[in-house]
Amino acid sequence: MELKEASLRERKIYYHEEWKEKDVPEFIVERIGEREFAFDHDGNGYNDRYKGFEKIGLFSDFLVKNFPYAVCTSVSYYSKPKNREDWRGAELVFDIDAKDLAVKTCDCKESKVCEKCLFEAKEIVLNIKDTLVQDLGIKRLFAVYSGRGYHLRAVDDEVLPLERRSEILEYVTGSKRPKDLFLSQGYSAVYRKMFILTFNKIREKNLPFSKNITDTLLSEKNSIISKLMSCHADFLDIKGIGSKTKNDFMGHIQKINGSLVDGKVTVDVKRILRLPSTLHSKVSMKCVEIKNLEIFDPLKDAIPKFVNEREE
Ligand SMILES: [Zn+2]
Repeated sequence: MELKEASLRERKIYYHEEWKEKDVPEFIVERIGEREFAFDHDGNGYNDRYKGFEKIGLFSDFLVKNFPYAVCTSVSYYSKPKNREDWRGAELVFDIDAKDLAVKTCDCKESKVCEKCLFEAKEIVLNIKDTLVQDLGIKRLFAVYSGRGYHLRAVDDEVLPLERRSEILEYVTGSKRPKDLFLSQGYSAVYRKMFILTFNKIREKNLPFSKNITDTLLSEKNSIISKLMSCHADFLDIKGIGSKTKNDFMGHIQKINGSLVDGKVTVDVKRILRLPSTLHSKVSMKCVEIKNLEIFDPLKDAIPKFVNEREE
């Protein structure tokens, strides 16, 4: 499916006829006066920044009047959002973009996405979400379809003041080797889960080894995965695979896992993120808060009405 850019007229139709104030997530509305807003009015970037809205109604008026190309809000709260003064904490955010995935089983060209890689991005999101909820005890976690990928946004009181966000990133993506690979729970289990998730999708072109080694690793894939799942320490004891290759192979998967999430977004609390309910005009998709991630289908649930009314 080729999604083309929304025209000015289509943006106007979207904000006048389809957009509803109630589609702005509650986790945004509840502290709306403390968020910075940023607008891209013409597709040339977020030139209209440092805006604040005391109430959701004022924001609605602004949208209907301006039907912007793109809308973002800060992940941080400020007592004076227009000046970004007096920081009051930031959401803990994970940005998983389908177009940037280092390993995908489709043949999308660079910066393109398709049904398949959007689904693979969602699988990654589901796994990270489980880790955040089950291992790290996150309670107020919201999933958002961003237009070409997904955001996970946590607003628990405990996470807002966090400083060392990169450690959480390593934990949920499984991008650092655990001391003991085979503990039944905790980080070891997360590492194995994420290792398997990525290795399952690995193809010849994704491995930086000689043809012999690559062929061996791929032909033993099922056995490696099932041994790892059942915690067999010999999961990589394969003829032709030496200890250096083992190490390099694991390091390679870890590196890929480290790139599943755009780390800059997690670490940088000055970031702005696309606001759910608004239009991603470049691809004519809606950014939406997802109520049920398992059944969410972006190609059904994030397509604005005007796309279906387009004449070919
Ligand atoms: Zn694709």
